[in-house]
Amino acid sequence: MHKLDKTDLRILSTLLEDARTSYAALARETNLTIPSIKTRIQKYIDTGLIEKFTIILDEHMIMKGTSMTFLLKVKPSDLDKISKDIYDSPYIANLTITSGHYNLLIVTHPMSDKDKLEFIKAVNTLPGDSIIELVSSINLETFMCKPIELPKSPVNLLIRCDYCHREFSGEVFSKAVLGRKRYFCSPICQEKYEERAKKYIRGELFRHPDEEKAAEKEAKK
Ligand SMILES: [Zn+2]
Repeated sequence: MHKLDKTDLRILSTLLEDARTSYAALARETNLTIPSIKTRIQKYIDTGLIEKFTIILDEHMIMKGTSMTFLLKVKPSDLDKISKDIYDSPYIANLTITSGHYNLLIVTHPMSDKDKLEFIKAVNTLPGDSIIELVSSINLETFMCKPIELPKSPVNLLIRCDYCHREFSGEVFSKAVLGRKRYFCSPICQEKYEERAKKYIRGELFRHPDEEKAAEKEAKK
């Protein structure tokens, strides 16, 4: 089972503050050795808990204008397609599919007035009369995005099974397949994934098992 103990939570909260904290500093702080700090950090990366190490820029120093928030009511059958289309716009800071009267929430990066008009026009003229309703407002002041507050006591990691894509926190079956460590909710899922991987290696499957699953899902729609 993948568990985050108190030391893990300590390491993660230090890295949330400053991702450049050295292995040596983390080792001192936690009374662990540098190799075991490295092992733990590698575990966060392998499980997908740490998606990437990045930087936070003050975007207002580069982009002029103000950011905006949009609430959209999109024809449900077009929601996936529209979300993808809109997401491709360079202005999008984040995009969330929501429940309720509006089903799409968009927050943009800072935009000039001209960009705002163009963006609204582009959204309104998306094909297929997909947009039923659109509400927009200008964000007056944006505070810095806040990282999540880590739990105070140990937690189990929720892991997604690489075969059935189910989220689980029970016993984890893991094995390196096709050059990457994979996680499975059961030996059955592991076996099925390995079967697919073998077929892929033999050339009987044209798609990588990970992509095949996504394609299957797409075909069901
Ligand atoms: Zn599974």
